[in-house]
Amino acid sequence: MLTLDTDVAKISRVGTTTAKRLKKLGLETARDLLWYFPFRYDNFSQITAIKDVRAGQSVNIVGQIELIQSKRSPRKRMHITEALVRGRTGSIKVIWFNQPYIKKILKVGDVVSLAGKVDYDFAGLVMKSPVYEKIGKNQAVHTQGIVPNYHLTANLTQKQIRFLIKQVIKLADKIVDWLPAEVRKRHNFLSLSKALKKIHFPQSEEDISQARQRLAFDELFFIQLRAQLIRRQLKQAKAQPIDFKEKVIKDFVASLPFELTNAQRKAAWQIIKNMADSHPMARLLIGDVGSGKTVVAVMAALNAVWADDKKTDKQNPRQAVLMVPTEILAQQHFASISRLLNKFNIRIGLFTRTDRQINFAPTSIKTKKKTSGKISKKQMLNLISQSKVSFLIGTHALIQEQIEFKNLVLAIIDEQHRFGVAQRKQLVEKSGDRSTTPHLLSMTATPIPRSLALALFGDLDISIIDELPRGRKKIITRIVDEDKRAQAYDFIRAQIKAGRQAFVICPLIDVSDKLGVASAKQEFEKLSQTVFPEFKIAMLHGRMSAREKEKIMADFLANKIQILVSTSVVEVGVDVPNATIMMIEGAERFGLAQLHQFRGRVGRSQYQSYCLLFTESLSEKTQKRLYALTQYNDGFKLAQIDLKLRGPGDVYGTAQKGFLDLKVASIFDYQLTQIAQTEAKQLIEADPDLKKYPVLAKKIKEWEKQVHWE
Ligand code: ADP
Ligand code: MG
Repeated sequence: MLTLDTDVAKISRVGTTTAKRLKKLGLETARDLLWYFPFRYDNFSQITAIKDVRAGQSVNIVGQIELIQSKRSPRKRMHITEALVRGRTGSIKVIWFNQPYIKKILKVGDVVSLAGKVDYDFAGLVMKSPVYEKIGKNQAVHTQGIVPNYHLTANLTQKQIRFLIKQVIKLADKIVDWLPAEVRKRHNFLSLSKALKKIHFPQSEEDISQARQRLAFDELFFIQLRAQLIRRQLKQAKAQPIDFKEKVIKDFVASLPFELTNAQRKAAWQIIKNMADSHPMARLLIGDVGSGKTVVAVMAALNAVWADDKKTDKQNPRQAVLMVPTEILAQQHFASISRLLNKFNIRIGLFTRTDRQINFAPTSIKTKKKTSGKISKKQMLNLISQSKVSFLIGTHALIQEQIEFKNLVLAIIDEQHRFGVAQRKQLVEKSGDRSTTPHLLSMTATPIPRSLALALFGDLDISIIDELPRGRKKIITRIVDEDKRAQAYDFIRAQIKAGRQAFVICPLIDVSDKLGVASAKQEFEKLSQTVFPEFKIAMLHGRMSAREKEKIMADFLANKIQILVSTSVVEVGVDVPNATIMMIEGAERFGLAQLHQFRGRVGRSQYQSYCLLFTESLSEKTQKRLYALTQYNDGFKLAQIDLKLRGPGDVYGTAQKGFLDLKVASIFDYQLTQIAQTEAKQLIEADPDLKKYPVLAKKIKEWEKQVHWE
C-alpha cells in the first residue's frame, strides 16, 4: 500500500533508472514528491485572441515573431526594440524600451507568449514592454489550462513528474496539519492537505496564490517560532557586562586615517551600549559591501578587551574572537586590524587551518622568546587558553580545533550568512567561563531594509550602516561584447599605467572540456604572455596553499602585482582600495548576488572604478541579470530584481541562498512575515514549550535539521 514513506522506486511504473534520477533531485519517498513544488505555471486558460485585444487591457497573447528590430531614439537616447507578432487571428505591434538584449534573444520565427498592457499609438494597437517567454512550437498549441512546471535534471520529463505526483497526491490527506487551528482560521489559510493539492494541481490563479500563501506562511512561522525560542534562551542567559571605555575608543577614532561615517558611529555606539548589558548581546550588523563594517567590529573588540587600570581587568584579561569564511579574508583582516590597533598594544592572533599556520601581529605580541611571527599550533592554543591573546581572528578552524578561551566575552562573525546557526553556537561555546555567554555580533552585507530585517531576524537586534564613506564614486558597470575585448584591454592598460590595479575573475581554475568557459590558468597565461607582458600578473585560486595565497594577497595589496587573475575565492570581503577594475569572465556562471559581491571589491577609494562583464551567453535570464547590474549599484534593489527574474516560486533556486532556506516564501513577503512574527510571539508567550501543540513541536525539530542555516 502506498504511504508517505513509500520509496519512489516502489511507486507503480517507476523503473530503476527513473528512481535513480528522482533520487538525484533528492526525491526518495512519496512525501518528498508531495513537497517538490512547481517553480512556475503556464497558464494557457487565459490567452486572448489577438483580434479581441483592446487598448487599456492587460492581456496574455501567443504568436509568432514576424519582424524584430532595434534602434535608438535620436532625441531621448533611448533604446527601442520593435516587433510584429502574428497569432491565428491577427497581428500586433510590440515595443520594448531600453532592453537592447531582447533582439539577441527573440528571433524571427520564434513563438512567444507575451503578457502586458496594451496601448494605442499613431499606428494602432501596441503592447508596451510586455513580459515575454519563448515557448516550444508544439507545446503552445497543445497545452490547456494551468500547467505546473518542475525543476528537473536531464532525462526526467515534466510529464513523468506530473504523473508521479498525481499518484501520490491523495496522501496529502494523511498528513496531520501542524498549524494551530486558531491561527489557520484567523488568517483564512488553507488546510495543509488542500494547500498541497492546489500547489500541484491548481484550477485557477487564485488556487495557486492561496496554496502559496499557506505554504509560505509555514516557512516564515517556523523561522519566527525558532527565533522566539532562541530569544527566550538568551534572555535567561547571563553575560559579562562591559563598560564603555570612553578614552580608548576616542583615541582609536582619532587615530583612524579617515572620518567615521555617521552610520558607523551610530552602529558602534549601539553595539557598545548593548555590551554593557548583563544578558548576552545578539546583534546583526548590516551594511552593503564597502560600507566599512570592519572598523566598527574592531571598535567593539577594542572596547571588550581593553584593560583599563582596574585590577580585575588585568587579573583576568578578556578576549574577543572574529570568525570569517575564508582564509584569505582571515589573513587580510589580521593584517589590517593589526595595523589599526598598532598603537594600542593589543595581542592579536591569526588562526586558520589549511596548513596549520599560526601568526602573531608583527607588533602586537611580546612573549618571552618571540615578539612576533609564526608559532606552533600548540603554543597558540596555550596562549589562547591563558588569555595571552586578546583578539583572535580565524576561519572555521576556530570551531573545529580544540580551542578553549579563558575569558571570551565577545564573538564576532563576519559574513554571517556563510555560517550555520550551529557554527555560531559552537563559537560562542568556546568560552572558558561556563557561567556566562559571550556577546555575539554578526555581520552581513545581505542587502535588506531595516523593517524586513527586524521582522525576519526576530532573534537578533539590528544595526544598519546605510551610507557609504564619503567620496566614493558609483562603479561604472558595462557588458562588453567580444569584439570590444581589445578595447577593454587597452582601457585596463591605461588604468594600470595611471597606477591602479585590476582583478580578472574566472569561473574555473583549470581548462575544462566545457568549451568557452574561461579558466584562471588559461587567462593567466594569455594575459601575462600576450596581452600584458609589461605588467606583473599573478594567479589566485582555492587549491593554493594558505602561504601562497597570503603572499599573493600581500603583494597585490602592496601593488607589487598589478593584475590578479582569480577564481571566486576573492568574492567576499577582500579589500584592496587601489584596485579599480573588476573584469569578470563567464559572468553568466555567477548569480546576481555574487556578481554584486565581486564588484564590491572595487570602488573602495576615491578613484573611479569599473566593472567589465564578459559573457557569451545569450540566454534571456543572463542578459537581464547582467543588464540589471549595469543599471544598479544598490544591493537591495538587485536582490529584488534577482528574485523577480527567478520568479516568486523558484523553489530550488539559489536566489536566497546565503540567507534563509525558503522554498515558497520570499524575503520580500513582508506582510506575511509580520503575521508570522505576531502569531509566533503569542504562541510562545502562552505556551513556551509548545505543550499544547505536540505536532508543531515535533515538526519544528525536524525542520531545523533539514534547513540549511546558511
Ligand atoms: P565591508 O563593510 O564591506 O566589510 P570594509 O570594512 O572592508 O567594508 O571597508 C571598506 C574600505 O573602506 C576599507 O578600506 C576601509 O578601510 C575603508 N573605510 C571604512 N570606513 C571608512 C570611512 N568612514 N571613510 C573612508 N574609508 C573607510
Ligand atoms: Mg567585510
